[in-house]
Amino acid sequence: MAKRMISTARTLAGTATLAVAGVVALFLPAVLPVTGLNAATRSFSTDAFESYRTRNFDVKNEDPEMAERVGAALEDALSRPVFDGLLPSVDNLGRVITVMLYPTTERFAASTDLEQSGGGSMAKVSGNKAKATKIVLDASQPGLIESIVPHELAHARFYESDLYHNNVPSWVSEGIAVAAESEDSRNARAALMKRALDSEELAGALELMATENPPNENRSLFYAEAYAAAAGLVNAYGSEKFAEFIAAVRYKSQTDALVDIYGIQPVDLEDLMLEWLEAHVPKDEGGTRADGEPIFIKEGSGIAKAGGNPDQ
Ligand SMILES: [Zn+2]
Repeated sequence: MAKRMISTARTLAGTATLAVAGVVALFLPAVLPVTGLNAATRSFSTDAFESYRTRNFDVKNEDPEMAERVGAALEDALSRPVFDGLLPSVDNLGRVITVMLYPTTERFAASTDLEQSGGGSMAKVSGNKAKATKIVLDASQPGLIESIVPHELAHARFYESDLYHNNVPSWVSEGIAVAAESEDSRNARAALMKRALDSEELAGALELMATENPPNENRSLFYAEAYAAAAGLVNAYGSEKFAEFIAAVRYKSQTDALVDIYGIQPVDLEDLMLEWLEAHVPKDEGGTRADGEPIFIKEGSGIAKAGGNPDQ
């Protein structure tokens, strides 16, 4: 069953020169400008929001009980390393990140312009350094605690790490963010990917690599495949090699970086994705899991260029 995706990639690999040129051109603007924050303060008042403070976060909210849960989830997620320490465990950031917890999807959307989102993570960038400025969350999303909080926080942690630069491919950013989610959440993504594989809807590695931002269509599948690719590489070669790969794509194409760092081609990355999937797809897929839609993030993460975010 894995063969169809691989054969597609092998066909694409035959036109490598053209495809790689496309990849380079496409993933340069790998970060989304967030333009909605100015509208945020005007669209409705957050004057009534209270602060719920933890060591590292200030959760602005209208629902103290939910804010306490979110604050605990943020601190818990921060204390957990991601991908064997690619993002290290952090006890004390040394400063406080603001988290806006909007009570409804309507108010979240009106305030952030992240219309398809359950959450977002913003940072200011100067050069290749980024500083997380804010996390925005829709408190009404069912996957808030187990998926969205650790996912958005992982983006913020990644922005602030030495790994970050402005050529990081979207699948790498999202793969790391998904890795921070709960095991149930990641299993649900594996199940979705398995269904897509069975129905021949899976995107090949070259397509994944060329996707510059999480697409509106099949967004959940993009996250699943992004995670499969990142986890496949980390499982096979370790997190230090993955850090080397991330550094390499700052200056070279993803295909060149795969060859230089791992000695593999995109088609081999696809094999790793499928091997990872075979090892991790829930055994009861199609059975007990069929009742519920998996909880997925429909998010937009964003970078505001330094000085470009009047909210700060
Ligand atoms: Zn994300």
